[in-house]
Parts: sequence; structure tokens; C-alpha cells
Amino acid sequence: ANKVRLQAMSDVEAYTPPAVTFDPGEEPGEIFGDNVFSLTVMQKRLPKSVYKSVVATIEKSAPLDPLVADAVASAMKDWAMEKGATHYAHVFYPLTGLTAEKHDSFLDPVGDGTAIAEFAGKTLIQGEPDASSFPNGGLRATFEARGYTGWDIQSPAYVLENPNGNTLCIPTIFISMTGEALDHKTPLLRSQQAMSVHAERVLTLFGHTPEKVVSYCGPEQEYFLVDRHFFVARPDLLNAGRTLFGAKPPKGQEFDDHYFGAIPERVLGFMMDTERELFKLGIPAKTRHNEVAPGQFEVAPMFERSNLASDHQQLLMTTFRSIAKKHGMECLFHEKPFAGVNGSGKHVNFSIGNGPQGNLLLPGDTPHENAQFLVFCAAVIRAVHKYGGLLRASVASASNDHRLGANEAPPAIISIFLGDQLADVFDQVAKGGATRSKEKGTLIIGVDTLPDLSKDPGDRNRTSPFAFTGNRFEFRAPGSLQTVAAPMVVINTIMAEALDFCATTLEEAVAAGTDFDEAVQSLLTTIIADHGAVIFNGNGYSDEWQVEAEQRGLKNLRTTVDALPELISEEAIELFSTYAVFNEREMHSRYEVGLEQYILTVGVEANLTLEMGTTIILPAAMRYQTELAANVAALTAAGVEADTSLLTTVSAPIADLRAALAELGEAIAKEHEDESLATATFSRDVVLPAMAAVREAADTLEGLVADDLWSLPTYQEMLYVL
Ligand code: ADP
Ligand code: MG
Repeated sequence: ANKVRLQAMSDVEAYTPPAVTFDPGEEPGEIFGDNVFSLTVMQKRLPKSVYKSVVATIEKSAPLDPLVADAVASAMKDWAMEKGATHYAHVFYPLTGLTAEKHDSFLDPVGDGTAIAEFAGKTLIQGEPDASSFPNGGLRATFEARGYTGWDIQSPAYVLENPNGNTLCIPTIFISMTGEALDHKTPLLRSQQAMSVHAERVLTLFGHTPEKVVSYCGPEQEYFLVDRHFFVARPDLLNAGRTLFGAKPPKGQEFDDHYFGAIPERVLGFMMDTERELFKLGIPAKTRHNEVAPGQFEVAPMFERSNLASDHQQLLMTTFRSIAKKHGMECLFHEKPFAGVNGSGKHVNFSIGNGPQGNLLLPGDTPHENAQFLVFCAAVIRAVHKYGGLLRASVASASNDHRLGANEAPPAIISIFLGDQLADVFDQVAKGGATRSKEKGTLIIGVDTLPDLSKDPGDRNRTSPFAFTGNRFEFRAPGSLQTVAAPMVVINTIMAEALDFCATTLEEAVAAGTDFDEAVQSLLTTIIADHGAVIFNGNGYSDEWQVEAEQRGLKNLRTTVDALPELISEEAIELFSTYAVFNEREMHSRYEVGLEQYILTVGVEANLTLEMGTTIILPAAMRYQTELAANVAALTAAGVEADTSLLTTVSAPIADLRAALAELGEAIAKEHEDESLATATFSRDVVLPAMAAVREAADTLEGLVADDLWSLPTYQEMLYVL
């Protein structure tokens, strides 16, 4: 093998991962939430009246009273300093999908050259990071690059440990001077509020005195681990997070031995370490198992309120990245780091509920509970059918385009899987609406109970993008790199619209003197008639589904470029402004940032492809070609008949590679400067195919060129040496 790769391999072999040591007798429960300024901590440290006010604020999702803020800030600072914090940071979630932090020292210099520990209530409520370095999609002009952050009191502050000093982290929203959202959290809070209002109206109709309804999210995160020795030897992994070159390994993932197989010891050490860190941060990370591809794994924290789950999800990714480094590995969250190998998603499990009424997507035992469950389920059906395009747009990115519709992830068509039994229930409801007579196989609302709905995982349809799994829906299109906030904003908002529709319809019927059960029956019948086309229990990967979905009028938004315009459709703008989640300017800003990110991602990859193709792959191939030519010349000179077939074989892809590189270079040069839909379309239709042509020639050469000349670590090495 090549020197560089040999060195990497022997370094990998020689590597001893850090020992993961635990205090003997340490129980996971003991460290859970150790670094979190939780309600329990607040209760201990705050005057009773202040504590009560904080709890009330959290319940009401209201902003923190400035009078209370000072007391909270002071207690928070003392607690954090006892935990070794020297700095504090407002943590926010800009539209890049990453996590950003604005750090400040607790120590404010005072006039006489000394410093005092200063952390007032206003510091907690409001920070002022320079917003100009974050994408804002045109909102910048009016807000003069200034942005404000403010604590989301529902998401507790925590201390992040670091060998260079600990930091008190305060999860915040990030808005412009005019109050427009520059982040993913602000709309998430707004959308939860909107959903809650209308869910409560429905619950009231069912005779409850409802408490605040919240949305829950349980994200399943897939990721790859790669040894850092290989990682740093791959400029593409290093700079783009995915391999832009690489032939498929001879041992592919058709070998199912990795899935739920034994976890390599080194990975287990990493997992134990991450779990411990997550526990300290109050993140309930639970399951861990191998995923489908070699080197691929999954972590699924327990579900929480969606804004908290979203913060925790971001923190989980940061934690995984840094702990992987500590263990000599790189954690890849890219949706498709290796072509031809299963990609990584981030399934978003969601449900809605509250304390007294519990999970509203859980089927009940009595006819009355059933009716309520069916209304909430029907709301999901309406929401997903009416706004499937928005759901698709919420998970649109250059990297997720490699995954969706690639026969390993759901297609770009958004449909709902209900399972046979629940689908049958809705069928019966649809039939029963007209007569309300108990004909064979007809379910009567308010009279009948539901059949036991199977929660058997074997019953699950993995090919569906939006699946009912017994007590929740699982949205499977989100990509591993993405924030769960974006899809959750859409889910909450479209649920708000659907529940608003349900509540209004029922209220009107009841006011007109219709029997309530009959009103429910007729509501369900209407929803199934209007939106039943979104229900699909078949194989979402099949070609027939593409055809059938089109006949059903479902959108098939294959790429980000197709999907993003959904954000600025009249319908979307109307929806989001009605429920006060986004105004029109904010929608346009999201759309523009989406385009900008897409163009940027493809641009970086295109330049890397050109550079690696020109400076690494072509030279290796030409050296080999020269060797072969020299061999032919030497043999001919020696009077031996030379076989030139290998030289010919190698020369063809070399010629292809040169031509493809030239074409890619031209495409890059022709790319427009602006970040418009036209530029994004050009990236998709011209740049990406040009990159693919370079890759095809290069991957062919990988199978031909002498191994000692090939310096890029191969798929085989990266995926199997752990
Ligand atoms: P499975 O492999 O069966 O899909 P996992 O245990 O991998 O299940 O993950 C399922 C995810 O769904 C977890 O994050 C879990 O907390 C979450 N979840 C479970 N119940 C609910 C619920 N009612 N609402 C939202 N998320 C839920
Ligand atoms: Mg799972």
C-alpha cells in the first residue's frame, strides 16, 4: 500500500484510546443533571416567591419577569462559579443549523483596576452578539447587523466543562432589533404556542379543562465514526464532511452483520464517555446500537418538550464531536459521507400532550377516548396532506438530497403510514359517516372501542417518511446533520392549523345543535375524504409509488431546489402569518438562507473535487500510466512483445478525468455570483453532474492504479478499521 496510508494504518493499529474510568460505585442516576441549573437547584437556592414565579413562567411559557431575573441571575452565577465556571455564554441556534455561542467573562473590570464578578438579571435576559456573521436572508439591512439573545427559560442553563475553564451556558433565542427571528428556536417557541391554543380548544370540546398542551420530540441520531488518522488524510472529509471520491468496498453493507452486532470495544468506550457527559448535562441518552452500515451507530435520547429536545440534540452533536476527538476518532453527522453506503438520518418522533390528558396520540380504551384520539390523528392526516411540501422543505439541504429517495431513506414524497389496523379504522369511519348504522365492519364513534393497535416493530414500515408507531408519529426524512427545530416548527404549525380546523368545525356543529359524537363522525369523514390520499401503507421505495403518488396529486420534490420555493408559496406565508410563527419577511429570509447554504455547500464541494482531482488523483494516475508506458518501452527495446492492454485500459479513464476536470472548472467559472434560485438550479443541474463525472473517472482509476501510488485512504480502510 501507499506510504501515507500505511502510516495511517499502523498509527491506527498502535493507537490506545483513553481509558474511560468511572468512580467506583457511581450510579448513572447520581450524575444525572449534575451540571444543570435545574428546577431542583433553583428550588434550593432561590427565595420561595422567586422560585414560584419562575415555575409559573415556565408553565405559561411567558418571558421572565425582570424583577425575578436579578435574583435568578445571582443564584445562577454563584452556582456556576462553584462548578468552576469563569465565563458565561449565550448559546443560540442560527440558520446555519449549527450552534453559536457568545462568551463573556463573569469578571467586569472596574475603574480601579480590580474586577468584580458581575452577572445581573439583564445579562441573563438579553445578550447582544454581533449578528453580521450569521446568515439572515436579507433581514440584515434593517436591523443594522445587531441581534439580541434572550434566555429561553424552559431550557435550563448548564455548565459545560472544558480543560481550559468551564462555561455557564444559557440557551437563548436570537432575534433582530425589530423582533424578527434569526434562529431556529424563536419560531419553535412561537409554533408550540400556536399548536397549544388549538389543541386546548379541541380538548375543551371533549369536556376537559385543559392545561397547556406541549409538543414532544424524541430524535434518533445516526452517525459514523472514522479514525482520525484516516480523516485527516482525506481533504474531502475534512472540509466537506463527506467523501467526494472513493470506490465502493468489496465488502459492502449487504453483509448485515453490523446491524445490532457487537459494538467494537473502542466505540463502546466512546459511547460510555459520551453517555456520562450527556447525563451530567441532563440529556437522557438511552439506546445505542450499531446501524446498518459498517462504522455507523445510533443514539436516541428520550423524548422531551420539543424546544428542550432541540437544544439537547444540538448539544449532543457538539458533545459527540469533541468526545470522538478525545478517542482519536471523528464523528460524522453528514447525511451521506460514503457513496454507496447507507446514509444517516435523524428520525423525529413526535407527539403532543399534557399532564392531565397524557399523550394525545395514544389510542384510548373507551369510545370517548377513542374519538378524541381519532380527532388528533385526523388532524395529523390533514396537516401532512395539506402541507407535505413544507415538511419536505423543512429538511431540504444539499447533503440530505443525497439521502432522500435513495432507497435507504424515505422518498421525497411525503405520505403517512398508519399501519393496517388504524388505516382500517379510518376506512370504517369514512364508510360509517352516512348512515351511522352498525353495518358489518363499520365503527361507530362514541359507541365502539378501537381494536388493539399493534406496536410491534415488525409491523413498521421503514420506507414511509411519516409513520404512526403506536403512540407517536415518526418523521423519517430529517437528515443526521440537521436541527430538529426546523421540522418541529413545521409540524407544530401545521398541527395548529389542522386542530384549529377541527375545533372550529366541532364548535359550529355543536352550536347548531348537532350531537357531539355525530359531529366528530362527520368531521373525521370529511378529513378522510379530503386528505385520505396522503395515507400510504405500501413500499415507499418502489417505482410504482412514484407513479401512484403523482396520480394522487402528492408532491414529489426531489431536490432542495425543488423544495425551497414551498417556503414562499402564498399558502405557506398565509399559514405561518395566521399562526404568528413567521411573518412574510421571515419566510423570505429562511428561503434565501436555504438557497445560500445550498449554493455554498455545492460550491465548496465543487472546488474540492477540482482540487483533489487535479492535485491528488490525476498525478497518481499519470505516474502509473508513465510506469506502464515505461514498461512497454522497456519490453519493446528488449525485443519482447509488449502487452499494451493495461496501458490502454488506464489511459481511457485518465482522458475522461482530464475532460471532466476541465468541464468542472468551466462550470465553476460560469457560476453566478448571486445567491438566487437560478444559481442554485445551476449548481444542481450543471455543477453537481460535473462533479459526478469527475468522481466516476476517479473511482474507476482507484480500481486500476497501483496501490502504492494511491494516497487517499480507501472506503475499506475508513469503514472497517475501528
Ligand atoms: P425504535 O427503535 O423502536 O424506533 P428508539 O428507542 O430507537 O425506538 O427511539 C424512539 C424515540 O422515540 C426515542 O427518542 C423515544 O424517546 C421517542 N419516543 C417514545 N415515545 C414518544 C412519544 N410519546 N413522543 C415522542 N417521542 C417518543
Ligand atoms: Mg429506532
